Amino acid sequence: MNKIPELFGCMVFDDKVMRARLSADVYRSLRNTMNKGKKLDLSVANAVADAMCEWAVENGATHFTHWFQPLTGITAEKHDSFITPAPDSHVIMEFSGSNLITGEPDASSFPSGGLRATFEARGYTAWDPTSYAFIKEKTLCIPTAFCSYGGEALDKKTPLLRSMEALNRQALRILKLFGHQDVKHVVTNVGPEQEYFLIDRDMYLKRKDLIYTGRTLFGAKPPKGQELDDHYYGAIKPRVKAFMEELDEELWKLGVYAKTEHNEVAPCQHELAPFYTTGNIAADHNQLTMEIMKKVARKHNLMCLLHEKPFAGVNGSGKHNNWSLATDTGINLLSPGETPYDNAQFLLFLVAVLKAVDEYQGLLRMSVASAGNDHRLGANEAPPAVVSLFLGDELTAVLEAIETDSPYAGTEKRRMRLGADVLPRFNRDTTDRNRTSPFAFTGNKFEFRMAGSSDSISGANIMINGAVAEALRQFADQLESCEGDFDTCLHDLIRDTVRRHKRILFNGNGYDDAWLREATEERGLLNLRTTPDALQMVLDPDNIEMLTRHRIFSEAEIRSRYEISMENYVRTVRIEALTMADMARKEILPAVIRYTGDLSASLNAQKAAVPELNCGYETRLIRKLSDLINGIDGAIGALEQSVAEAGGKDVTAQAFHIRDNVLSRMDELRALCDEAETVTAADYWPFPTYGDLLFGV
Ligand code: ADP
Ligand code: MG
Repeated sequence: MNKIPELFGCMVFDDKVMRARLSADVYRSLRNTMNKGKKLDLSVANAVADAMCEWAVENGATHFTHWFQPLTGITAEKHDSFITPAPDSHVIMEFSGSNLITGEPDASSFPSGGLRATFEARGYTAWDPTSYAFIKEKTLCIPTAFCSYGGEALDKKTPLLRSMEALNRQALRILKLFGHQDVKHVVTNVGPEQEYFLIDRDMYLKRKDLIYTGRTLFGAKPPKGQELDDHYYGAIKPRVKAFMEELDEELWKLGVYAKTEHNEVAPCQHELAPFYTTGNIAADHNQLTMEIMKKVARKHNLMCLLHEKPFAGVNGSGKHNNWSLATDTGINLLSPGETPYDNAQFLLFLVAVLKAVDEYQGLLRMSVASAGNDHRLGANEAPPAVVSLFLGDELTAVLEAIETDSPYAGTEKRRMRLGADVLPRFNRDTTDRNRTSPFAFTGNKFEFRMAGSSDSISGANIMINGAVAEALRQFADQLESCEGDFDTCLHDLIRDTVRRHKRILFNGNGYDDAWLREATEERGLLNLRTTPDALQMVLDPDNIEMLTRHRIFSEAEIRSRYEISMENYVRTVRIEALTMADMARKEILPAVIRYTGDLSASLNAQKAAVPELNCGYETRLIRKLSDLINGIDGAIGALEQSVAEAGGKDVTAQAFHIRDNVLSRMDELRALCDEAETVTAADYWPFPTYGDLLFGV
């Protein structure tokens, strides 16, 4: 543990290893491919594959896999060993350039939303050389994109890379206008903060809801929840500490910059924040982080819950996506600069985000929509379902001054003239962090806080990148054709953009009902409360236009993803409903009936012993339990019927049926079962309670 620098990245075929193991020519070709997207020729690929294989075998690997991110939400891998038969019944360890560059997993069992007809079951994976290969469990993992034979993306990485490319293209146009001829590439930097719960594994295994759905579907509120606020940043318990130490170490080996670990708001809730890195690597690393979290937890007899809402009544988990734009020359484009000209450039990128978030609020909301996240957004613990942008008082005042051409009431009162005045320093205000804002500027980056904890961050980043690319494209078009003085054109563009899009700015409390009313009724912002509503946004013609214009998705890809996401929503809720019905019938009802039976036997025995006894409490309780038993039975029937009624419709209709009917039946069943829990003797309850789970580690 005291050798972290040596440990870090020891399982990664990174730049250091490449330099050491590749010839200068091969290294240069590979770097060209990585930095400039140049095609890799087979002789280079063969040389890289040889070096990779040798390195991997030395580090204990026996297999290799193309590691990809299909539309299931988790990563997929199919392992092949390195062995190749050699004469005399021997084997040699071998890995070829073509094995490195492409693979052909049978794609027929991955969701494609109709993109890949089953007769054309084969998809192919293609190496993403911008994300380093690594060894995980004796397997050399090669990060890859996953496509159909027609070239349609079947994964999350491909559109993410395309969106980064679109943003690069448009940002470079802007930077040229500011005279930055030296900048060759603009990338996004992303730091996703990952929240999660840790519970005891023995208890987990006693709950079918956790096993099948990742969240509790029943559970009466325990006497203590998170009301004392005594968990956030609290001292970390030894068992959790041991988990975090091992997690850090495993992640460091894989080159993941795990940086900050702390307790979160809810009991047994924690967070891990990595140091930020390039967008597509951050997405890969976040997938790895989730996987390693689960694996390490098991070793400590814990279970890591990544669900957005594992427990009702306490906070759920999200993923704050910290996002910024940087040049290959090391400039953060969202960092206010030192000179008036830098400031103008900063303000232009800032208002590009303003425009992007306003115009594509629906897509941003859509990008985080899932059955799990519906329990958080708008539930006064995560940002509301309404997208808005927080800039803080100081920047808002600057924009207002520009917009109204009035004096800026900052440190010194003066008119802001772009290209002439230096902006005040925007020291990040740590005292007044607005935690309720969905999209917040935090000094030199934006923090998108709506993403769910279990989701890939690719979806959110694809939409942010695309939306900002489109804003920059329009800006570049306008500025490139500017005929008069550039500064005046720039000033007018920024002023007009603020005027047009300021409705999305909101620095107040996002949980306030008054805000939701103002947002929707006065400002006309979207309030898409549930997944079926949010998902439909992607089919909006303007959104399709933007995504296809920048070649982030083809229209067929958009429609197929819409189908997959809707289907996923329907399936998720259906599994939850069926799990509830199963648990209620096979576990809860039998337990309550047994308790009622024992109570009745005891009541009879008491009356037999002393006939004039009143036994009022027992009688009332038996009556109440009996009512609950009947109620639960009825509620199970109603739920099952409502699930059955969803069948046969098209997927959109199913999703709306589920949202409008099945969810409320689930709530009704849960309320009755939770009430039964509160009146049933603890010994009889068939599985660990909220108190056990939340305070059991
Ligand atoms: P917190 O939000 O908890 O106060 P920080 O703001 O320090 O913590 O960092 C949160 C995350 O933001 C970390 O993952 C960090 O690496 C990332 N981050 C910091 N600067 C940037 C940046 N310029 N671009 C993208 N992510 C960043
Ligand atoms: Mg944060």
